[in-house]
Amino acid sequence: MVEAQEVCKHYGPLEVLKGINLKVHQGEVVCIIGPSGSGKSTLLRCMNHLEHVNAGRLYVDGELVGYRQEAHKLYELKPSEVCLRRRDIGMVFQHFELFPHMTALENLCLAPTVVLKRARAEVEREALEMLQRVGLSDRAGYYPSQLSGGQQQRVAIARALTMNPKIMLFDEPTSALDPELVGEVLKVMRDLAASGMTMVVVTHEMGFAREVADRVVIMDGGRIIEDGPPADIFSNPRSERARTFLERLL
Ligand code: ATP
Ligand code: MG
Repeated sequence: MVEAQEVCKHYGPLEVLKGINLKVHQGEVVCIIGPSGSGKSTLLRCMNHLEHVNAGRLYVDGELVGYRQEAHKLYELKPSEVCLRRRDIGMVFQHFELFPHMTALENLCLAPTVVLKRARAEVEREALEMLQRVGLSDRAGYYPSQLSGGQQQRVAIARALTMNPKIMLFDEPTSALDPELVGEVLKVMRDLAASGMTMVVVTHEMGFAREVADRVVIMDGGRIIEDGPPADIFSNPRSERARTFLERLL
């Protein structure tokens, strides 16, 4: 579902991704952990076409990010083509990023009605089901400012799901939440994983990674320094850097 081959990304002279190799198969849950500034968000943003890859190749759902291939030639994607590709990718951010002037239900209905031009009544019915799935059927008419952080994040997840994505990307979805609200969001993510969704999750929730992830990837300084099943990574990290990072975290 995702394949990164020697992916490099720099901002001016600052090299942020220094040759990332990573595979995420369909239905897999991969958690990415690593120190601040190691490039985790940048890697996710590249997967979602929010950043341009400078070197190497990044495939999402079999297609080369940023390019269209025709008869062995590569053409850079136009913005409209980028939008088309992005439809299949759901992304959830640390700070929810809901539209503040819209109710929960309106947030969910926007993309399916505007982007996919689907009929309002049908979209609304599905959106209400989706809100029920994240435990918020009684909050459909609430504005983001009237919801707790945990509720807002669950709305954000439900909103991403309304587009029926093939993969979901999460960038520290619980780090802006009060500790008592983390559990309700992780539960929704757990259910989503159990439903077979392919997920890439940047998180520092080690309990979640241990229980739910098929693989844990540790990034450091723009490189992947560990990649394996959580049991192996947590109990027997290969590198000294990974060991010190985990010791601080666990
Ligand atoms: P954190 O755990 O703090 O979220 P991260 O692993 O997600 O960190 P990134 O956000 O990917 O790290 O950033 C990696 C590096 O790239 C950092 O040094 C950051 O300052 C730099 N960086 C990120 N975005 C930009 C940008 N748009 N312009 C310039 N530098 C950037
Ligand atoms: Mg980040």
